[in-house]
Amino acid sequence: MTKLDLDVAIVGAGFAGLFALHRVRSLGLKVRVFEAGHGIGGTWYWNRYPGARCDVESLEYSYQFSPELQQDWEWTERYASQPELLRYLNHVTDRFSLRPDIQLKTPIDSAYLDESTPHWVLNTATGDRITAQWLIMATGCLSRPYRPHLPGLDQFTGELYHTGEWPHEPVNFRGKCVGIIGTGSSAVQCIPPIALQADHLFVFQRSATYTVPARNGPLDPELQRRVKAEYPAFRARCNAQFLAINVNASTVSALAVGPNERRRIYDERWMRGGLPFTGAFADLRLSAEANATAAEYLRGKIRETVTDREVARKLSPHSTFGCKRLCVDTDYYASFNRSNVTLVDVYAEPIEIITSSGLRTTQRAYQLDSLVLATGFDAMTGALLAIDIRGRGGLKLKDAWYGGPRTYLGLATTGFPNLFLISGPGSPSVLSNMVATIEHHVDWVTQCIRYMETHGVKELEARHDFQEAWVEHVNQVASCTLFPTCNSWYLGANVPGKPRVFMPYVGGFPTYAAKCSEVSTNGFQGFRLG
Ligand code: NAP
Repeated sequence: MTKLDLDVAIVGAGFAGLFALHRVRSLGLKVRVFEAGHGIGGTWYWNRYPGARCDVESLEYSYQFSPELQQDWEWTERYASQPELLRYLNHVTDRFSLRPDIQLKTPIDSAYLDESTPHWVLNTATGDRITAQWLIMATGCLSRPYRPHLPGLDQFTGELYHTGEWPHEPVNFRGKCVGIIGTGSSAVQCIPPIALQADHLFVFQRSATYTVPARNGPLDPELQRRVKAEYPAFRARCNAQFLAINVNASTVSALAVGPNERRRIYDERWMRGGLPFTGAFADLRLSAEANATAAEYLRGKIRETVTDREVARKLSPHSTFGCKRLCVDTDYYASFNRSNVTLVDVYAEPIEIITSSGLRTTQRAYQLDSLVLATGFDAMTGALLAIDIRGRGGLKLKDAWYGGPRTYLGLATTGFPNLFLISGPGSPSVLSNMVATIEHHVDWVTQCIRYMETHGVKELEARHDFQEAWVEHVNQVASCTLFPTCNSWYLGANVPGKPRVFMPYVGGFPTYAAKCSEVSTNGFQGFRLG
């Protein structure tokens, strides 16, 4: 067993862990990152399924901490593909000499607080023991794949894949009969390329999904030049927006304009493509009536694209628009016009069992060579609770969060001093440009550690009363929106038995960042310092 004494241990080498390493190292502290994967990249290391790419534009979904990096890196597409994002993260890792302080292939099994020192004691799956005064959990929001308990799944003798843990060797679907379960963002991205390759593709859909075209393509060099010429101002404009994404949010109600004007605005957003569609009107997330206009517009687009009326009907969602994460696609609906793609509505025809050679629904058997689970993640809490984390008095994080995650600002949780969460539940995280909000969190945490160092503070812990008030605020803000009205992973509703709590903060990034800054300016108000 190797023993290692650190000032700061960081778990995860994705966007968050890499930047945390860079920042914390600048404090002159002894720090190391522990990563389960065999390479760096987090989300972009694991999610390498065909068609995987980001749904936030490259010029925004990138670090802003280094003006030189920002100028030097040339994005090739409007939305970066997974390989390009992984190249970018490897470039950042080498450019800032991060690699020597990253330990790959090292899953963390447990983290206990030793109150006598006080230090965190981490045990790795490889038998190492690490002690650190501070523990930064950069474990990602969508990093623990969710596999539904489908009877017979272990009997399947064909190739079985999960989009969130895609093999590193090329997968060839040519000549194969492929089944895919799920129609969320991952499926919406990989269905078109798989359809181009496979002999036949059966799409097993439980809930129809809303998706808008990405309108991806080579990034206009002139646009890149213009943005780079004023990058700090561009970033400031993005960060001032609700999601820290340049959605150009309207302040007008969808009900304040006539049907022709409404259609014109939706058409404009549809042609622009991507998540800015959500900003077409101010009240799409607040008013069911306003929301219904967007839903009907998108159903119209499905009817226009999909030639078979029955297939178009099945693909048409009737849930609240944007209540589950809006998908962004390239040729998703058009794929259903191909003769080698069949949509199976498993709401009407539930999956009974996975057999050795395919899948049986209540109506028929499907012979499959390959089965792709695009069934998502145990989001926001899954990766944290997979580690046996025990805080004050041996309190298990699992028990502390029995009824759902409870945090102060999504950054810390009572009973677990000196443990920081990056983009934790209770912060804007998954509702924002993740890279921008990760940088914000890491900067806040670095500032906090610096403060502790300079003020001789050994321990910092979220106060229970402040945490409860924040949780109450997060719930209250969410309850004013349409978000809690559907079975989304934001609510934990995709994982059976998971507490149903709306996890991200919907108050918007600018409001949230102002609150964090107020807390730090006031001597880390709401934290007990010891
Ligand atoms: P997801 O949105 O949770 O979708 C999972 C899909 O699997 C849903 O269609 C779900 O149906 C279905 N499913 C789950 N269990 C099932 C079962 N037992 N039987 C039949 N169907 C079942 O997961 P995801 O597509 O991996 O996306 C998760 C999130 O990751 C996204 O919302 C997004 O934030 C992020 N992501 C982003 C990108 C991007 O940047 N472009 C790409 C991929 C993912 P129900 O809806 O009925 O539950």
